[in-house]
Amino acid sequence: MTPTYSPAVTEIFQRMNILRERDVVARMQPGAATASVTSPIDGAPLATLTLDSVERYEDVLARSVKAFDAWRRVPAPERGLLVRAIGEEVRKHKADLGRIVSLEVGKSISEGQGEVQETIDIADFALGLSRQLYGLTMPSERRNYRIQEQWHPLGPIGVISAFNFPNAVWAWNAMLAAVCGDSVVWKPSLLAPLTAIATNALAARVAAAAGHPDLFTIVMGPDDVIGERFIADKRLPLISATGSTRMGRRVGEVVGKRLGRSLLELGGNGAVIVDKSADLAVAIPSIVFGAAGTAGQRCTTTRRLIVHEEIVDGVCDRLVRAYKQLRIGNPLIEGNLVGPLINKRAVDGYLHAIGEAKKQGGTVLVGGEVVKPAGVDGGHYVQPCIIRAPASNVLDIAREETFAPILYVFTYKSVEQAIAMNNAVDQGLSSAIFSTDVRQTELFLSGVGSDCGIANVNAGTSGAEIGGAFGGEKDTGGGRESGSDSWKAYMRRQTNCIHYGSTVVLAQGIRFD
Ligand code: NAD
Repeated sequence: MTPTYSPAVTEIFQRMNILRERDVVARMQPGAATASVTSPIDGAPLATLTLDSVERYEDVLARSVKAFDAWRRVPAPERGLLVRAIGEEVRKHKADLGRIVSLEVGKSISEGQGEVQETIDIADFALGLSRQLYGLTMPSERRNYRIQEQWHPLGPIGVISAFNFPNAVWAWNAMLAAVCGDSVVWKPSLLAPLTAIATNALAARVAAAAGHPDLFTIVMGPDDVIGERFIADKRLPLISATGSTRMGRRVGEVVGKRLGRSLLELGGNGAVIVDKSADLAVAIPSIVFGAAGTAGQRCTTTRRLIVHEEIVDGVCDRLVRAYKQLRIGNPLIEGNLVGPLINKRAVDGYLHAIGEAKKQGGTVLVGGEVVKPAGVDGGHYVQPCIIRAPASNVLDIAREETFAPILYVFTYKSVEQAIAMNNAVDQGLSSAIFSTDVRQTELFLSGVGSDCGIANVNAGTSGAEIGGAFGGEKDTGGGRESGSDSWKAYMRRQTNCIHYGSTVVLAQGIRFD
């Protein structure tokens, strides 16, 4: 297939003035393999892209290694200035980048732009961080000795991103890695390569103007060829991988075998507990956004609702009423809140899970069908669905992450039981409790409460801010990205012992005279 960008994509790239950037041009070079990109909104072709040969992959990696060697010599605050300039460039093109996200993965305009805003936010965060890569000093047990820790750049960082956050996931990693003195090689999802091309083109242009043209690079190709080569590549001391638990297990295995580091951000199975003391005016909209927003295609999507048995009927009624008002359709049209699923496979997964839930005794309260919204030809649209678990309160299918808008409803009697249910799945990413009883909320946040990386009180499971460390436990992989001290993953720690006396003293009182 001849490589090409569709007129719609060309127009956006032209407005962003990136048509001549290396990342954009490279995908139009003749090559052995190509990938087609279509929009989940209506199936319209968006591009046919040339994928990387092994030779090109090798060239990119060699360039990234060289870029790292130059970049690590630049003082960290100066590195911060480059990240600030990237943030400014993204700010300028927020609307267009957001539109590519929407076209390519089907997010609403507001959510597409919200994702790009996260990139801007993390660039701001990283700028401040560039002056705060603090090490500790600690007292030595020996006279005239001093001990300190320093943080040094780690190397070229490999970033694998999932389709559903095609812009922000890279930024959470790349902006921190850059101030830490690392170069970045990005392997995006083939379901969302255009956002990656455009984003990297902007960042690489800014870096090239500062004399570092290979600081941000991309490799693109099938998982079994380029993906496997990438994770096995010893030149990448850290692989930060976002995606399914299945993918994370493979990355963990391959990277672990070569004793590299991996930072894994994998599947979730978010639960919300609703107590009878909850303020439902706060809880209901938070649950609806958490469960149906982004068409259920967030790692932090609310997939399980655990409601006090005395209020469950009322909560279900209110949710059903809210779900009936959700406008499903072309996400580019304002007012449509639920866009398409990414592809036919995702629709099959949605139908399969609903079928299984019914077989297991669940009752569909609302939704559950494939829909063809008016005015859209093609696309992969489904109705957000609520399924009530049977009286036994057991529904095995709810243990799996189905990447679609399905919310399973369970009941509980005591908050301890609700917390146990929250924790009784393999994944451990996001969780929430809606309650005005401080004893319950504090128990939920305590060491015997939620076992997830994110535990919210009177706020839904999805929609994290960049300031906190983001990630989850158990099958979610244990990685932390974004704010707080997540930057430490992108550096190597060095402990220094400095002696300024004239008598050698050994630690632990050892004599060796
Ligand atoms: P996926 O696992 O199919 O793909 C994710 C990425 O991994 C893609 O870039 C893919 O090409 C790559 N990949 C797959 N196999 C590989 C291999 N052997 N070697 C190298 N790369 C490989 O996931 P997806 O469908 O794109 O995304 C949805 C999943 O991602 C969901 O499970 C969701 O919960 C998860 N996710 C997690 C987070 C988080 O922060 N925890 C964020 C977003 C998405």
